[in-house]
Amino acid sequence: MVIGRKKKWIIWLAWAVVVPASFLYASQVSPLPSSFNAGDFIILVLLMIPAALLPVIINQTPISFTQWIVLVVFLQFGLLAEMILTQFSILITMIRLRLSRDQYFRFPLNSAMFSAVSVLSGTVYYLLGGTHNPGASVDVSFFLLAFVYVFAYYLLNQLFFNFIHSFIYSVKISFFSKDLVWETLSLFVAYPIGVILYILYNSAGNISVLLVGIPVILMLLVLHNYNRASIMNEYLQKAVELGHRLTEKLKFDEVLEIFVKNVLKMFPANYLYILEVVDDERLEYIRCYEKGEFAEVKPPPLKKNEGIGGLVWSAKRGMLFHERREWQRMEKEGFPDDLESLLAVPMMKNNRVTGVILLGSKRKRVYDKFQLAIFDILCSYLAISLDNAKHYEKTKDESIRCPLTKLYNARYFHDKLEEIFEKLRNGEMPSVSLLLIDIDHFKMVNDTYGHQSGNEILCQMADLLKSIIQSKGIVARYGGEEFAVILPGYKKEEASSFAEYIRKTIESRSFVMYNDLAEVRRKLSVRVTVSIGVSAAPADTDEPMALLRCADRALYIGAKRVGRNKVAKYVI
Ligand code: GH3
Ligand code: MG
Ligand code: MG
Repeated sequence: MVIGRKKKWIIWLAWAVVVPASFLYASQVSPLPSSFNAGDFIILVLLMIPAALLPVIINQTPISFTQWIVLVVFLQFGLLAEMILTQFSILITMIRLRLSRDQYFRFPLNSAMFSAVSVLSGTVYYLLGGTHNPGASVDVSFFLLAFVYVFAYYLLNQLFFNFIHSFIYSVKISFFSKDLVWETLSLFVAYPIGVILYILYNSAGNISVLLVGIPVILMLLVLHNYNRASIMNEYLQKAVELGHRLTEKLKFDEVLEIFVKNVLKMFPANYLYILEVVDDERLEYIRCYEKGEFAEVKPPPLKKNEGIGGLVWSAKRGMLFHERREWQRMEKEGFPDDLESLLAVPMMKNNRVTGVILLGSKRKRVYDKFQLAIFDILCSYLAISLDNAKHYEKTKDESIRCPLTKLYNARYFHDKLEEIFEKLRNGEMPSVSLLLIDIDHFKMVNDTYGHQSGNEILCQMADLLKSIIQSKGIVARYGGEEFAVILPGYKKEEASSFAEYIRKTIESRSFVMYNDLAEVRRKLSVRVTVSIGVSAAPADTDEPMALLRCADRALYIGAKRVGRNKVAKYVI
């Protein structure tokens, strides 16, 4: 969660006021009692350490079960001692989190919040007549007051937590959330255990800390691991789901889009880079996601062993870094200045690295080992899905093109013609023209220079036609040495003069090839001409196949028969 500088200043300022004031208040209302024993207090403080270090994580918020110790210390030694203990546990928690610079404000925030919670719940206890009298026998009012104290503490904690989220992080969380269930559960664990420990402590002394403390800490350990396992399970389920969705998708861009969207939802991350191995020699960026958007400018590619991406490529395994210090020396990527935690995972297919994915966060230690494992699984899914998508797109492209000239084939041409006629019928397009271009005496070229040389001319002719027509129309190889062109929006006259331009350009061009039939393979330059038939819709017809027939007739009757190297319009 990101907050601005101004808010951070306010937090530090509030902390500088609230905490000393709370301590001053506590030392007046409930100072350390004469019976205070530093040794006993330290034993209880030590018990706090494992309890604070074994939180459960709910909705990305760690919740520690420490309230039972807080209760004992409060009942035994009073408000001031409880505050010292609580502030100490916050310090441990913050050290465990190893906050990055921009997260330091979380210490004063928690410290001030818990000071206020301590003071207010302590005050409630005192107002209701609560005292600190460890020697006294326990009665109903003791149990009731202890419960009221714990309940007030719990309630205030909840209220402050919600306040912080809405006013400081500007995120509304409903009061009755998943956290509340855990907090409420912790209340019903903390109260009885705290009371038992207090009573036992006053009759049996320090040994009770072991008798009660050890089983509770062990229970917390089990809970902590259970929590981890259930989070892991959740991740795994999401990963499998995403994997299925990815493998279902057939388009390259679609696969990438779904991957990026879901990974950013699943993992805490500010940065995501997807790199692909190209020509077995470099890693090229195909997607860069930074600070909530895709970056247009892509960094230069990496070689093997270069940068973290290059290292993952050669090591063929994922790497997990908790903070900047761990990866800084290897980096060549030019990562943003505030990147800290980093997951770097290879995309693998048949034991070969096909790419590398880097996922980063501004926060330190946000990724766990299990997240690396899950991310690794996801990246394998991505590798397979991208490969499938590429195959699909390649096969699809091949199915609509002629393998020799790479122009569209007749099947694609017919489909396009149908589409355009649909537009013509809907009134979306006023007219369309069609050119049929046939090379003159091509059989002779083949007979003179060989079939291979004929092919070379066909390829050069295809390139030439593409470069003349560009986006004005769609050009296809219609038959052996015949090409067809759709000119959407063209009237017959316009199409006819364009055809004339094409004819002249071809006539003036030399085609370069090698004579296959000669003894010595020699470079030759050959001139060829074309005849072109022109037809148009709706002028000539309103049927696509008829339009082709019209152009064909114009070609043979109007151009070929009268000597070739001519353009002929269809005449009804
Ligand atoms: P016209 O001026 O009447 O069109 O004469 P033409 O020789 O071009 O026409 P014809 O239809 O008699 O012959 C077409 C020739 O085109 C025959 C064939 O060998 C050649 N041809 C067709 N497809 C290919 C091809 O893929 N490669 C090569 N090299 N030649 C081809
Ligand atoms: Mg011909
Ligand atoms: Mg022909």
